[in-house]
Amino acid sequence: MIDFHAHLDLYPDPQEIARECKIKDIYVLSVTTTPSAWVGTSALAIPGSRINTALGLHPQVAHQRKGELEAFDRYLPDTRYIGEIGLDGTPEFKNYWADQLEVFSHILKACSCAGGRIISAHSRRATSAVLDYLEKFPDAGLTVLHWFTGSKRDLERALSLGCWFSIGPAMLVSERSREMVKHIPTERVLTETDGPFAQVEKRSALPWDAQKATIQLARLWEVENKDAELILENNLQKIISTL
Ligand code: MN
Repeated sequence: MIDFHAHLDLYPDPQEIARECKIKDIYVLSVTTTPSAWVGTSALAIPGSRINTALGLHPQVAHQRKGELEAFDRYLPDTRYIGEIGLDGTPEFKNYWADQLEVFSHILKACSCAGGRIISAHSRRATSAVLDYLEKFPDAGLTVLHWFTGSKRDLERALSLGCWFSIGPAMLVSERSREMVKHIPTERVLTETDGPFAQVEKRSALPWDAQKATIQLARLWEVENKDAELILENNLQKIISTL
């Protein structure tokens, strides 16, 4: 099972969730929202688990945390994974658009200079702007668009830029999203939960809720659950062996 975008450090008891992920042998991309969370969150990647920590600076806190870009640059050599980064175009955060652009472009440039990274990106109400920046920094690495909500045209463009997509159970509640997912080549798809932010059955999603996304993908792809799991594990092996 794969949860390619979870905020382990934001659960009430992160250690307990990390232990459970190890027992269940879940591959987790444990994203962070600020560079100052990097050291503490990395400690959750317990030996023998498949937890990997990503260094991030979330667009919703870009205006408050851009002073941490120096720390970002310092930790960058320590990881192959970056996230959560990106842009957020919802009205509340559009006020800080200049800060968001400054942070996002700084990070993409730093990733390019460092030889590229695997990136988990947020693009809520900002898909075309995110794609513009990915186009501007083609050497930043391989980007996985998390919880993609763009248009069909955005999807075509994202695919031509080489983007992958991580898809969670909360996202698949929407008929529009399910329809969109059918147009993504199966070899560009991973599962995620975005827990504890995303909700599943009126509670915070847990990393093992990624299984619900796998089952839904199996339905959309018209394959058995175990075959969907196989496709996703193959995709994971492929993505982690790049860069
Ligand atoms: Mn997130």
